Amino acid sequence: MSKILIIEDEEAIADLEKDYLELSDFSVTIEHDGAKGLKCALKDEYDLIILDLMLPGMDGFEVCKKIREKKDVPILMVSAKKDDIDKIRGLGLGADDYITKPFSPSELVARVKAHMSRYSRLVGASPQHNDIVEIRGLKIDKTARRVYIDGAEKNFTTKEFDLLTFLAENPNHVYSKEELFRKIWNMESVGDIATVTVHIKKIREKIEYDTSNPQYIETIWGVGYRFKI
Ligand code: CA
Repeated sequence: MSKILIIEDEEAIADLEKDYLELSDFSVTIEHDGAKGLKCALKDEYDLIILDLMLPGMDGFEVCKKIREKKDVPILMVSAKKDDIDKIRGLGLGADDYITKPFSPSELVARVKAHMSRYSRLVGASPQHNDIVEIRGLKIDKTARRVYIDGAEKNFTTKEFDLLTFLAENPNHVYSKEELFRKIWNMESVGDIATVTVHIKKIREKIEYDTSNPQYIETIWGVGYRFKI
């Protein structure tokens, strides 16, 4: 879980930010004072810091500068005044982004997420966060959209990948061709559902050892398909 430090003296704002970030699965710590916030930022590891400009103890300019001397954690500066934002930019304190009060909590969450993904790419941490589905010898890397059988990569088209991933993530459930067509092709079931059969056949040729005796995707005659685990 990614950790965020909020340095903000207005408790109502800090609590609101915390609530919204926690809803998005972030772990949040709040400090209400500049000097304490700085201490906390330097002592513990955070994935991002949300820093208010006007703070008791030590203002946001100073806190930002001091954090930057030691750490390259993303810093999102918050200010009530547009002029302050221009000033922060002018000073080149090393803040990564700026947001002006009042802002909507969802805007804040969106900004935070954008910085998280950029930062994790920069430090090369993203491969560890790849979303992987692994069933016996089959491995689906959802982030990279790659499929491996016993470590060997198989080439999948977009729809083949989507169909296989959907079935693998919902194992032991029988889906009709109509349901699969609606889910994967995003259309009402007026299209040609035979395309599902064709895709299943292609997927099997890539992942099954013996397509006449499939180990992964089973045909339930007269009903549809089921991913076996
Ligand atoms: Ca303030």
